[in-house]
Amino acid sequence: MKKSDSPVFDVLIMGAGFAGLCQARHLMLKVPGLRVGLIDPKGPEAENRQMKVGESLVEISAMFLYKELELHEYLIENHAPKYGLNFHWPKRVDQTKTIDDYYHIWTNGSPDLPSYQLNRAKFEKDLLEMCIEMGVEFIEGKVVDTEINSKEELNSATVRTHEGIVEFQTHHLIDAAGRKFLLGKKLDNLITDPEKLAGLDTGSAWLRVDGVERELFEKERDPTNGSASHYYGTNHWFGNGYWIWMIPIETGSRALSIGIVHHKSVIKSSDINSRAKFLAFLKANQRILFDMIESGEVLDFKYLPRIAHASKEMLSEDQWYVIGEAANMFDPFYSTGLVLAAQNIEGVTEVIRLKREGNELADARRALYDEYILQASRVYNRVYQRHAEHLGDANAMSWRIYFESIFWFGILVPMFAGKWHLEPDFIGQFFKLTRTFFHGPRSVVSSFYAELSAAQESGKKLGMLNYTRTDQMPFGYNPLRLWDDFRQNSKYEKRRLNALKGIRKSIFYIGILYGKLRIKNGGIYGLLEPRSIRLFTKLTGWFLYTTMGEWIHRWEVRGRPGHTRFLEQEKHFSENYEFDRRLIPWAEEEPDGAPKSETDSSNKIENRHVPEAAPY
Ligand SMILES: Cc1cc2nc3c(=O)[nH]c(=O)nc-3n(C[C@H](O)[C@H](O)[C@H](O)COP(=O)(O)OP(=O)(O)OC[C@H]3O[C@@H](n4cnc5c(N)ncnc54)[C@H](O)[C@@H]3O)c2cc1C
Repeated sequence: MKKSDSPVFDVLIMGAGFAGLCQARHLMLKVPGLRVGLIDPKGPEAENRQMKVGESLVEISAMFLYKELELHEYLIENHAPKYGLNFHWPKRVDQTKTIDDYYHIWTNGSPDLPSYQLNRAKFEKDLLEMCIEMGVEFIEGKVVDTEINSKEELNSATVRTHEGIVEFQTHHLIDAAGRKFLLGKKLDNLITDPEKLAGLDTGSAWLRVDGVERELFEKERDPTNGSASHYYGTNHWFGNGYWIWMIPIETGSRALSIGIVHHKSVIKSSDINSRAKFLAFLKANQRILFDMIESGEVLDFKYLPRIAHASKEMLSEDQWYVIGEAANMFDPFYSTGLVLAAQNIEGVTEVIRLKREGNELADARRALYDEYILQASRVYNRVYQRHAEHLGDANAMSWRIYFESIFWFGILVPMFAGKWHLEPDFIGQFFKLTRTFFHGPRSVVSSFYAELSAAQESGKKLGMLNYTRTDQMPFGYNPLRLWDDFRQNSKYEKRRLNALKGIRKSIFYIGILYGKLRIKNGGIYGLLEPRSIRLFTKLTGWFLYTTMGEWIHRWEVRGRPGHTRFLEQEKHFSENYEFDRRLIPWAEEEPDGAPKSETDSSNKIENRHVPEAAPY
């Protein structure tokens, strides 16, 4: 093995998939002058990019790509738009041939924040080219070993390249090699035991199919179509102990990604782990999907026997980091894989930036972000507890979707948009909030899910809750609502958006929803039972606390513009702009660039006639 002749890297990223590429670009944009190396066996020309899942963006991952990585135009020009989430439960399990055989929740409007369905192979190829152009040094090879030293010393990665085995040294070493778990295995940093992952024991089979007959999906289309394309949403199909995604990954060729997440307590791996078994399963249980697949050409198939895992540590004081699927993955139900990756990447960039500046707070900040990301990871894990019990039941599941969307749109999206998740004092409050809401059997989410199971067991009819409707809750509420007007007023500066307002309102509606569920389960007296009182007390406490926080924040930002740079531009405009009626003279050019005729002065400014403005 030879040591690389090249000087030491500031940052070395192992793996150029979604996470590694985004991390590299983020660092190049946010920390100028950094020397970043990116290692992957597949270079920009590689034809054999393995089949990847993780196509669907949601608000946070989409915002990360277009705001943080400045890829908005690229996304518009190269990837399909996404119109929210649709959900389908068969009316009868033995009749699933057409869309009319299902009960639905449809997204019926355009999303408040744009989102996209990615073609992963294309995205990664394009981003790698962009990274190389920005100055990221790409090393084509496979990491075969790593060496981690204490924080004062350098770390290193040993890479098998075309020229042989080479060792590269670096200050910061990032594992973005997905399920190879390069650091996870070496440092015993992985958690895979379902008991420690809120009971998640799932596998996944999926395929990509090209050239499908879209009409099979649209036939007998739901009349409430509204302004959203249903085909360009993420369509979820349900049955007992499983759910299936259907995601368009190409606009031109009508290619789809279709895959199942199955709970092994209901469907064994051995019953679904081949292409033939998966297709047979669909033919029997979700005929409409089987017919769509049959109408096109299957490109590939993959089975993953275990999806869920987490890490014990993500941002280490020894300057190693795990991001993307190398760090964690729970269930793709809400497409949060890339969301977790995005938050992790932002934390890593911020730590590296502070360390490079020699900021004395860098280490404390590193420890805080590590704890924040671990905590966020637990939150995203907990929302999948008891999934196996509820997925196939349209009543229970529609209540869950409603409930979980309150957290998403009311708390998590505003936190990310306002960059609250990088603010140390807010993170402390977030820890406390998540303990009440997500931890332990008496937490708010566990109590809510337990009530749903109780309703199932007692055969109570809950009815369907539709998270797009505004007539199922007081004051015309639905969970899609964003509580602060940050988009209209461009409150894009850090902490300008009032995230506490969203949290307060969300807590209010969580209380109402829980109350409704308790009444369904136990009648009006259900509200007076100790467990209800305990939960309402917690919620009231948090409601009052966040009300105070909301008003303190309002006071702190009073008179401050939502976006200083934007306001400065407007101020400059107001003070300096004057309408100038002149047109600058022009002349048609000869092919060699010379004016066509010296004598042609028809548009000389002194000869030009400027017409009076025409009356309306
Ligand atoms: C079934 C399923 C469905 C999902 N659906 C969604 C979704 O819809 N939306 C969403 O947001 N997320 C989804 N996810 C999560 C998403 O797929 C992951 O978050 C994402 O793919 C992670 O990307 P990554 O870059 O971490 O890993 P990968 O994409 O696996 O990239 C790893 C890279 O490391 C390279 N590599 C491997 N070994 C080495 C080595 N030894 N040396 C150097 N390089 C190496 C590989 O070549 C590869 O390029 C889903 C996950 C699963 C399992």
